[in-house]
Order: sequence, then C-alpha cells, then structure tokens
Amino acid sequence: MTEVPFRIMPALSELNSHFWQGGRDGELRFQRCKGCGYYLHPPSVICPKCWSKDIGIEAVSGRAEVLTFSVNVQNWMPGLEPPFVLAIVRCLEQDDLRLTTNIVNIDPYEVTIGMAVQVVFEPHVDDEVWLPLFEPVGGAK
Ligand SMILES: [Zn+2]
Repeated sequence: MTEVPFRIMPALSELNSHFWQGGRDGELRFQRCKGCGYYLHPPSVICPKCWSKDIGIEAVSGRAEVLTFSVNVQNWMPGLEPPFVLAIVRCLEQDDLRLTTNIVNIDPYEVTIGMAVQVVFEPHVDDEVWLPLFEPVGGAK
C-alpha cells in the first residue's frame, strides 16, 4: 500500500459526498444547476445565479489550469513533506470553478502559472474520502 501524507479530513455530508467520493470512480464531480447549467462549488441547496433549487450532480473532465501557486518549504505538519505545492486551479468547464489543492507528480520548482493539469485522486479513511489533487496533463513529469 502506498504511503499517503497526513491530511485534515472533510466531514462528509449528504451535500458534499459526491465531491469527496467521486474519486472512487475516477470522477471529479460537482453540483450543477439544471436550470442554467452553472456548476456550484462549494455545494449549496440553491443556484446563486438563477435561484433554481433543481440541482444535479455531474462529472467534469478533470482538466484544469494553474491560476496561482506557492512552493512550501516549511514542514507545517507531520507527514506533508516539503517542498510541496499549494495551488488554486481553475477547472476548464467554468471560469470560477476553482479548487485549492496540491500539484503533485512534478518537481515543485517546475510548476508554472497557466500550466495544464489533470485531476488525480488520493484515497483516505479506508477509501471513504478521495482528495482531488492535480498533476501535469499527461502524467508525472
Ligand atoms: Zn442556475
């Protein structure tokens, strides 16, 4: 079994389990408004664009772009070995569909703004939680 770093885990709920457990099926899933097509993240019970309460769950491509990032060289907590990259990525499906995440499978100093990345999942808690991380498109560099 692959050693995974220590993480603070989310509290699963009816509203967010599609997001945290989609990785089990290799899918990055978000709520999507059936009225106007807007992706909602974080999850909500009502669309902030058109006020529809008709909300579904949809998988996106998992492709994204690095908007901004930092290379962390401080060992803030045990298990997450520096250097590591903390980033905000923008999913290609929608400009404001963004995630704070780690960029992995690449030398941290090779990451650039605008880099094309794809989701990769890190399973935790006996495969109950799958954290969406991102790596360069095409896999490890
Ligand atoms: Zn809507």
